[in-house]
Amino acid sequence: MTAHKSAARKTGKLSLAFRPLPVPQVDVRGFWGDRVDAVASRTADILYERCVEARMLEQIDPDRPSPGLVIPFHSPSPDEAATPGFTGSTVTTQMFWDSDWGKTIETAAYSLYRRRNDRLEKNIDAVIDMYEKLQQPDGYLSSWYQRIQPGLRWTNLRDCHELYCAGHLIEGAVAYFQATGKRKLLDILCRYADHIADRFGPEPGKQKGYCGHEEIELALVKLARATGQRKYMELAKYFIDQRGVEPHYFDEEARARGADPKAYHFKTYEYNQSHRPVREQDKVVGHAVRAMYLYSGMADIATEYGDDTLRVALDRLWDDLTTKSLYVTGGIGPSAHNEGFTSDYDLPNETAYAETCASVGLVFWASRMLGMGPDARYADMMERALYNGSISGLSLDGSLFFYENPLESRGKHNRWKWHRCPCCPPNIGRMVASIGSYFYSLADDALAVHLYGDSTARFDIAGTPVSLVQTSNYPWDGAVSIRVEPDAPVEFTLHLRVPSWCRKATLKVNGASVDLDAASNDGYAAIRREWQKGDRVELDLDMSISRLFANPQVRQDIGRVALARGPLIYCVEETDNAGQLHRITLPRTAEIEAHPEPNLLGGVVTLSATGSRAEAENWGTALYRPEPPAAQETKLKAVPYFAWDNRDPGEMLVWLREG
Ligand SMILES: [Zn+2]
Repeated sequence: MTAHKSAARKTGKLSLAFRPLPVPQVDVRGFWGDRVDAVASRTADILYERCVEARMLEQIDPDRPSPGLVIPFHSPSPDEAATPGFTGSTVTTQMFWDSDWGKTIETAAYSLYRRRNDRLEKNIDAVIDMYEKLQQPDGYLSSWYQRIQPGLRWTNLRDCHELYCAGHLIEGAVAYFQATGKRKLLDILCRYADHIADRFGPEPGKQKGYCGHEEIELALVKLARATGQRKYMELAKYFIDQRGVEPHYFDEEARARGADPKAYHFKTYEYNQSHRPVREQDKVVGHAVRAMYLYSGMADIATEYGDDTLRVALDRLWDDLTTKSLYVTGGIGPSAHNEGFTSDYDLPNETAYAETCASVGLVFWASRMLGMGPDARYADMMERALYNGSISGLSLDGSLFFYENPLESRGKHNRWKWHRCPCCPPNIGRMVASIGSYFYSLADDALAVHLYGDSTARFDIAGTPVSLVQTSNYPWDGAVSIRVEPDAPVEFTLHLRVPSWCRKATLKVNGASVDLDAASNDGYAAIRREWQKGDRVELDLDMSISRLFANPQVRQDIGRVALARGPLIYCVEETDNAGQLHRITLPRTAEIEAHPEPNLLGGVVTLSATGSRAEAENWGTALYRPEPPAAQETKLKAVPYFAWDNRDPGEMLVWLREG
């Protein structure tokens, strides 16, 4: 146990809370630099344009006629669908267009740090003006309930994403204020948050509700941090504390609408993690994105309040997710039915839902667990989701998107331009554009380095400005050189993650070897010293290739092997290996080689091996026969999973047959 954690247990308060460095304080180059450039130069504009194409401006602009219902309703609850004239619990993605605007504004804000874009900024300012005009005198703001379904506000928190939309607009407002210094949207959302705080809370007379799609909790924490207003933090804590408490709010709310609570479309409140109070939850259940946003909010509140009861619950949930329900890519939520979790070890590959937003949500959750102190248990998983199951959702050029991220495809799963439910594009956009803030977190006298890659971070520690320059070709190469440049000598602890995938690591400070075992705690090496200008830290992470095997209880992966190198999971694609990838076998003894290919897929390291392929050519026409197929030697080539489907469309496979 590290010192700050034991101190936290004694006092009930964290003596050191680690906060991520703000986005503009980290310049990323190299691998992440390319990704941020794709978002800043293409995705950010594309998000705005596609929102406009989808008619989202019409909905928020009070000067235009209401567009009415643009996309037909779906998923009606049987009881409420049968209630004449009442459509309150049917769900249309149009209900959460405000959230798509919120995330689009957030992506634009982070992108403006990278690259000036006057046209985009003007477009976003115009959107903000519309929200200003739309806002009601009492502070209320929902384009759906004001323009499409008036008169029904706050009647169906379970299904209709009202507070969720508020949360995304708040996140957009905070980011836009920080990026541009313009307060208008922040002021609008503070008025709305004040309205929400007047309506909901533990005080007598207030509504005891919370949202069916978590998000407002973590957004209010951001708003509290940005404005210094404690009441927003208290409201976030209230939403967390109230969730799942009996009598159940969603039951009472349904009855108040004249509906039968049991007729809920998703049957169980596990779907939205309100089946029991959050501190009693021990299994990751229901809709995956909802779960990740809830746990992110819980982690924020655990950090802010030094609340160990939340931390204990979060650790149980973390264990459950990572030992039973996580794809090797960091994808989560195998089922399309509930867009979420099913049963332990159920990880189908071809039908994996593994929504881009869910992996992004896992990154959010993991990064917030790091608020309680450096621990590779969280950071390793954050890295896995970042480099694999989340950025696979965005084409290399930043223009096309995946909603589902399967681990096997027959060739028909390709990125699309836009989606009926466009939650994923702006989610991956905002995550990539703000990647710098996931690299580092800062405490009173410590800096933790969670991610490696060519980058420069600037921060103040003990009143002294410090730059920290990482030089590295990570993730292609494991050599990381860090130069520490304080304005004046300053003492602090530098925590460096030693990833669990790395079998051999060496660390030197100014050329002198450091005993990593002795210096490490929770997967981080800690170096405390008085740092001088020009001090140099060299971390060498062995990037040998790994074969990964799944727990034998995963029926879909038994007898199969996945390839990994450093943080990257690999896959084979038809374009490199001919079709019918299921016929390929990789012998356990096959030697696997790594090849830097600077001209492939924006510059990647590919893997190759000699495998075998079951011959179909001389099989004949019989469907079955007593003799096995002949096998032919074949050269196998694997590319990083995140980069698949950026060339000719075709089959893809992560888990290869082993033989
Ligand atoms: Zn999504």
